[in-house]
Formats: sequence, structure tokens, C-alpha cells
Amino acid sequence: MDFTINENQKMIAQMVKDFAEKEIRPNVMHWDENEIFPIDVMKKMGELGLLGIFIPQEYGGSGFGYFEYMAALIELGKVCGGIALSVAAHNSLCTGHIYYHGSEEQKRKYLPKLATGEWIGAWGLTEPNTGSDAMRMKCVAHKDGNEWVINGTKTWITHGLSGDVAVVLVRTGELLDSNGITAFIVEKGTPGFSAVKIKNKLGVRASETAELIFDNVRIPESNVIGEVGQGFKQAMKVLDGGRISIASVSLGIAKGAYEASLKYAKEREQFGQPIANFQAIAFKLADMATEIEAAELLTLKAADLKNRGEKVTKEGAFAKYYASEVAVKCGNEAVQIMGGYGFTKEFPAEKYLRDSKLMTIGEGTSEIQKLVIARNILN
Ligand SMILES: Cc1cc2nc3c(=O)[nH]c(=O)nc-3n(C[C@H](O)[C@H](O)[C@H](O)COP(=O)(O)OP(=O)(O)OC[C@H]3O[C@@H](n4cnc5c(N)ncnc54)[C@H](O)[C@@H]3O)c2cc1C
Repeated sequence: MDFTINENQKMIAQMVKDFAEKEIRPNVMHWDENEIFPIDVMKKMGELGLLGIFIPQEYGGSGFGYFEYMAALIELGKVCGGIALSVAAHNSLCTGHIYYHGSEEQKRKYLPKLATGEWIGAWGLTEPNTGSDAMRMKCVAHKDGNEWVINGTKTWITHGLSGDVAVVLVRTGELLDSNGITAFIVEKGTPGFSAVKIKNKLGVRASETAELIFDNVRIPESNVIGEVGQGFKQAMKVLDGGRISIASVSLGIAKGAYEASLKYAKEREQFGQPIANFQAIAFKLADMATEIEAAELLTLKAADLKNRGEKVTKEGAFAKYYASEVAVKCGNEAVQIMGGYGFTKEFPAEKYLRDSKLMTIGEGTSEIQKLVIARNILN
């Protein structure tokens, strides 16, 4: 494996860094405090090619691989975990599901809009009573002539309200049958389809989260992704790739927290010297640097396998599990290193800590990653 940073990664990292410093950093606390999802910023990122990073150019995307995708998410995560999460969800979940499992007709219809940011995408698996245990989902669809009729609720859906299109996983067979779930493309404005914003989140508050409600929503047969009954298997593959993106956002948060801590520790003086001189603080920084390096190598390995078209179930779980826990640890240590100042919104540490926590929950909790890893190493 050669993880030398290539020219595209450097170019993307610099472009995203410049964009984030100009368009995101000055507004992060305003969006965070007021729970504003800046859709205009998403559109601008679409123009820059950041909303279809691994989508081939023939479908309107940037045609890059997962190394470049990682580079973009890391730079965004350093500045705002919420915006980085939105970009990850848009690319990997909705857009990724259609790209990896959709028909040629569906790809031609939806990918150019999604990859350029003309449309924002959402992806709905989770329900109020079924999160980790997604196979027990209650949202159902039955066939009526040439149409499917969906009834039920999805919750915690990123871009559920502002999204122009959603891929939703719905029960079309028996409970607990892994061949009993189907993926549907549902466009905003379809009669019976509505959404309600979820407020008062701990972190990633600039990323919109919503509940989706389906009340006799009629969907044409042409909006079924792949074969009827194959949705759950598709979703698990989508999540395998998605976990590389959450690991990348986690890395961005961890690096942002580390860099802010390093700067602060060199500048802040106590007992007549910079606090970085105290071994207790220097060792915190050493741990953060070591764990970030390890998390990055795990994520690069998973990205490398994904670029080669290989299965990444175990490696994606390794990367997501470890990088997300490192992000929480780095956010926590950043607050500690900054002392009382770290405990205020005047300094970035508290936001890194709040945003980091979602990374151990979304797209499968840390406990579920351990289940995935255990299943892979035991079988
Ligand atoms: C901000 C945000 C954005 C999100 N975006 C999306 C989205 O775009 N699309 C989408 O579909 N979902 C989304 N989610 C949902 C997310 O994926 C779920 O919250 C997550 O999968 C956990 O499900 P749950 O919240 O129901 O927790 P539960 O499944 O109820 O878990 C509760 C606790 O029990 C533990 N647990 C559960 N089962 C086991 C087990 N077998 N062994 C050990 N421990 C277990 C969990 O690890 C956790 O600690 C989002 C969530 C948030 C908060």
C-alpha cells in the first residue's frame, strides 16, 4: 500500500481549506447556535464538485476516488463537523446508493442533479423504534397496480426536510426477512410525503436532521432501486462505504481539536512558562497525535480497498469505530488543555467535543461496529 499524498489529494485539500476558511469558519458558531443548515453553502460546494466526489464525470461528478473524498472531509471536519457530516451523508448515502445500485436510467436522471448540488439528497433507514436493529423496520410498502404505496415514519434523517430526493428503505416482505426490504427513490413534493425538523441536538447542529412521514405515498415501479427485496443488502453495502466517510469526518474533527490544542498549549503560560512545557499537557498532545495517525492509517487502508472495488465491511468498521472514538477523545482533551476557556463557546474546543459525539452514533454506533468486526473475525 502506498499512501503517499497524490497531487489530486493536495489540490482538493487546499481548495476545501480555502473554501472552509472563507465561507464556513466565520459563520460556524452562528449556524451552530441557531441550528441553521446553510443550504447556499451546500450549493456552492456542489459547484466545486464536492457533492459528487466519487461519481464519474459522465454522471456530472468529479470522478475522484476515496483518497480525495477523505481529503475533502478531513478539511471540512477541521472547521465544522456538521457541514462535513452533511457532505458525507449526501455523497455516500443518497448519491452513493443510486450510483452503486441504481439502474442506468435512474443514474442518468438523478446523479447529475445530486453531484452538482442542484438537488440535495437524503437517505432513510432509521425509524423511531428501530435504529441499530434496522431489520425490524415498520415502514411498509404494498404494491397497488404499477405503483407502490408507502406508509410509516423514518427518523434522524440528514437533509430530510431540505432534501429534494430521498432514498428510503422500506419493508416489502416479512418481518426480519433480509430479503423483505426494498429501496425506493422518493422525490420531495410527492403527495403524502412530509418532513419535520428535529431540533435541540447536542452537536452537528449545522447539519439538518428530520423525521420523514409517509402517508399513502404512491411511488412508481420505476423508482425501485435494483430488485424488490434487495434493499437491506444494498443498504449494508452503502454503509460499508459510508463508514469511511464518517471516519474521515472524525479525523477532521480530531485534527482540528489537536491543532487548536497545540497552538493554545504553546501560547498559554502558567507558572511562568507555556503549559506545553508541562509533561502532563505534552503527553496529552502526544497521545492525540499518535491516535490520529493510527486512525488515519486505518481509514486510508479502508479507502484503498474501496478504490480497488474490494469488500470493506471489516476495514470500514475498524476505521469508523477507531476514528470516531479518537475524535471524542481529542475533543475532550482539547477542552481540558484549554481549561476554563475550553469550556466556553469563545474557543473551538467545546464544539469539537459536541460534534465528535455523533460520529460514534451515526451510521452504526461504536457497539455495532464492534459487532460487525467480531462477526468478521469469528466467521
Ligand atoms: C444527527 C444524526 C444524523 C443521522 N442521520 C441519519 C440518516 O441520514 N439516515 C438514517 O437512516 N439514520 C440517521 N441517523 C440515525 C443513526 O444512524 C442512529 O441513531 C444509529 O444507528 C443508532 O440507532 P438508535 O439511535 O436508534 O440507537 P439504538 O439502536 O436504540 O441504540 C441505543 C444504544 O444501544 C446500543 N445497542 C443497540 N443494539 C445493540 C447490540 N445488539 N449490542 C450492543 N449494543 C447495542 C447502541 O450501541 C446504543 O449505545 C442519524 C442520527 C443522528 C443523531
